[in-house]
Amino acid sequence: MAPFLSQDTTLIVGAGFAGSVVARELAEAGRKVHVIDKRPHIAGNAYDETDAHGILIHRYGPHIFHTNGQRIFEYLSRFTAWRPYEHRVRGVVDGVRYPFPINRDTLNQLYGLDLDEAGAEAYYEQVRIPVEEVRTSEDVVLNSVGRDLYEKFFLNYTRKQWGMDPSELKAGVAARIPVRTNSDDRYFTDTFQAMPADGYTAMFQNLLDHPNITVELGIDYFEVRQSMQPAHTVYTGPIDAFFDYRFGHLPYRSLRFEHDHLPDVDQYQETGTINYPNDHAFTRITEFKHLTGQVHAGTSIVREYPEAAGDPYYPVPSTENEALFKRYEALTRERTDVTFVGRLAQYRYYNMDQVVGAALAAARTILGG
Ligand code: FAD
Ligand code: UDP
Repeated sequence: MAPFLSQDTTLIVGAGFAGSVVARELAEAGRKVHVIDKRPHIAGNAYDETDAHGILIHRYGPHIFHTNGQRIFEYLSRFTAWRPYEHRVRGVVDGVRYPFPINRDTLNQLYGLDLDEAGAEAYYEQVRIPVEEVRTSEDVVLNSVGRDLYEKFFLNYTRKQWGMDPSELKAGVAARIPVRTNSDDRYFTDTFQAMPADGYTAMFQNLLDHPNITVELGIDYFEVRQSMQPAHTVYTGPIDAFFDYRFGHLPYRSLRFEHDHLPDVDQYQETGTINYPNDHAFTRITEFKHLTGQVHAGTSIVREYPEAAGDPYYPVPSTENEALFKRYEALTRERTDVTFVGRLAQYRYYNMDQVVGAALAAARTILGG
């Protein structure tokens, strides 16, 4: 049954970062908001929960919070305490684990060299294949580290993750990964790197805990939208679905998560995540205890298997898809009664902090600021 909404209530579709931050901002400004989500839980893809073995896991894959935005970090700090955490990753090539992103130690270990920083810089200069106009993800990697490192670490991972060749993906995808001349083996170098001390779901509970906010779970917007007349709607789901796929389906990449528990194994792997660019059907394995700092006699891990069909997790950044998105985006301009925000509605490869930033901006616009 459709929820009853009084006409002064804003309807928010989706209880992930986008929906929950807008909800909080509107509620604090005195607006009444009703949040619905088709899933049986809040927190969107950042949802975490304790598994059957007592270990805090991320149901939809590993979520590591990092940002350079002090304002965003301070904003979320109102709703959670933090546990400092710097993520580290290894990439497996021919059965050997190397620091990833590629740094000086990766070069030294892989090629039996003894380069210092200047030597690493000179090495990249020697092997890179200069590309005049960097447009694709292939261009990005060839232009910075050349063909051998491209083939060892990027080509097959990207094909597996996206079902596409790096030459078909926009530069921004591979540009997420830096190349380093020093020995810094952190995955991110942002100023703020931390995990919510009690988990993401607990942080979302605090975000949504406001007298002007009601939350209803297990409700699909498309089954109730005809019968509701909210003052305004904030939509954070896939944009093509909102417009009934009028111009066709926008591709979203999906994943299948294979969760596993290993009793009596204190530590399964030496870093939070290990990437498998060239072996297996999965892209990476993450061990949650690294991320959360939890102490437990056993350990829980997740393998990520990319898939074309299933829940939408990633917009697929190609020229063609962005052109299709633009056609949908043009329709949003006619819908002043609806705000479209978030990774699925804006079709942007946003990290969590960027979604918080977009949601704060959307709330300001709604409130006329
Ligand atoms: P979502 O979290 O997807 O929330 C949208 C919500 O809308 C969902 O709960 C959905 O159920 C609901 N919804 C959709 N359609 C309907 C409907 N018709 N009716 C009702 N409800 C609906 N970011 C980082 O910063 N660091 C990371 O380490 C990181 N790791 C990631 C790992 C994976 C595997 C994935 C997939 C993403 C990762 N991200 C990471 C990105 C992060 O998940 C997103 O930036 C963020 O969660 C997006 O928030 P959102 O609110 O836009 O979307
Ligand atoms: N990538 C790769 N090899 C790796 C890790 C990443 O080729 O070992 C490429 C791949 O195209 C991937 C992109 O870089 O999709 C971004 O990686 P990131 O780890 O940021 O992906 P996410 O955590 O968002 O899935």
